[in-house]
Amino acid sequence: MSENGDATKTDVIIVGAGPVGLFAVFELGLLGLQSVVIDILDRPGGQCAELYPEKPILDIPSRLKVTGQELTDDLLEQIAPFNPVMHFNQMADSVTKLDNGHWRMTTDMGIVVEAPVICIAGGGGSFTPKKPKIDGIEPFENKSLFYAVRKMEQFKGTNLLIAGGGDSALDWVLALNEHVESMHLVHRRADFRAVQDSVDKMRELEAAGKVTVHVADIPRVNGAGGQIESVTLKSKESGEEYDVSCDTMLAFYGLTMKLGPIADWGINMDSNLITVNTKDFETSEPGIFCIGDMCTYPGKLKLILSGFHESALMSHGAFHYARPDEKLKFQHTTSSSNIQEKLGR
Ligand SMILES: Cc1cc2nc3c(=O)[nH]c(=O)nc-3n(C[C@H](O)[C@H](O)[C@H](O)COP(=O)(O)OP(=O)(O)OC[C@H]3O[C@@H](n4cnc5c(N)ncnc54)[C@H](O)[C@@H]3O)c2cc1C
Repeated sequence: MSENGDATKTDVIIVGAGPVGLFAVFELGLLGLQSVVIDILDRPGGQCAELYPEKPILDIPSRLKVTGQELTDDLLEQIAPFNPVMHFNQMADSVTKLDNGHWRMTTDMGIVVEAPVICIAGGGGSFTPKKPKIDGIEPFENKSLFYAVRKMEQFKGTNLLIAGGGDSALDWVLALNEHVESMHLVHRRADFRAVQDSVDKMRELEAAGKVTVHVADIPRVNGAGGQIESVTLKSKESGEEYDVSCDTMLAFYGLTMKLGPIADWGINMDSNLITVNTKDFETSEPGIFCIGDMCTYPGKLKLILSGFHESALMSHGAFHYARPDEKLKFQHTTSSSNIQEKLGR
């Protein structure tokens, strides 16, 4: 991994680890191209993993029924032989063209990657946290109040209050519990929306006195100079207000999707979507392709299977930029011993 200007070089930078970005790794890999994948989320799967991990998808060819998470897990297994480098918790932020015609991408956390090709598979846009409706929280944001865990070390030894009742809140209760000094979990209902296994494990921690659970609203965050000193809770049962002493807060109130920095990359767009040709899904910028939900062309359907088709054609277009002196040899996986060897079959 490279940080602070020391660029990693690869064949294709894929923005987005949703189902389409993941399958693009496979199609590019079949042609011998290496990918680096960047996603703002802390895990792969895009909408499938984030919005409907347990819902059955019924229109993936030959899969009678597969949940969003199962599809993600299977795609990860399928692309594993191509060893993609994946950077999570990273917003693909700025893009510049180099003198050699390649692209340099910098993430908001300082990772720099250079490649002849960028493939945008940004779906509905980068997932952005919804902020809690608490007056006066802005001064604390990104100082002692956070909406995501970008680096776990940051939370070690803290007196942490986690707000929220879904999977993210409970995942981080479980992952951070043994690293913090003290932990409070605040949710406005007694029922948690997270998977039952996480709820059961959280209740075990509660029974062991390792997390204090509050069913309450959060009317105020108290402190000075951006540093939280306590959080005021209003009990749902009694209506009484009380202060919980803590120095750090993590709030998980769901996500919305925003186009984000991609809008500033100088690529032609139509109604917040990137216009592409249908030969290989190249954008108005040579060497930048766009596939999946974020691209638009006449007849576009926002379906996973459409994105898979676009991945295959995009990889052929990408090949000509990444291997300008080589001739692309189209091969079926059933008959290419070279591909079978790469895939370990
Ligand atoms: C409830 C629901 C049910 C659905 N059911 C079906 C179905 O049955 N069948 C079907 O085919 N489709 C279904 N869809 C649609 C399907 O989920 C999408 O078509 C698919 O997820 C698109 O894949 P994608 O990889 O293009 O984008 P996404 O899944 O949106 O992934 C894009 C990724 O890019 C990341 N990203 C974006 N911008 C940046 C940036 N600047 N930097 C870093 N990361 C970035 C995002 O964080 C995200 O992880 C459903 C959608 C929803 C919401």
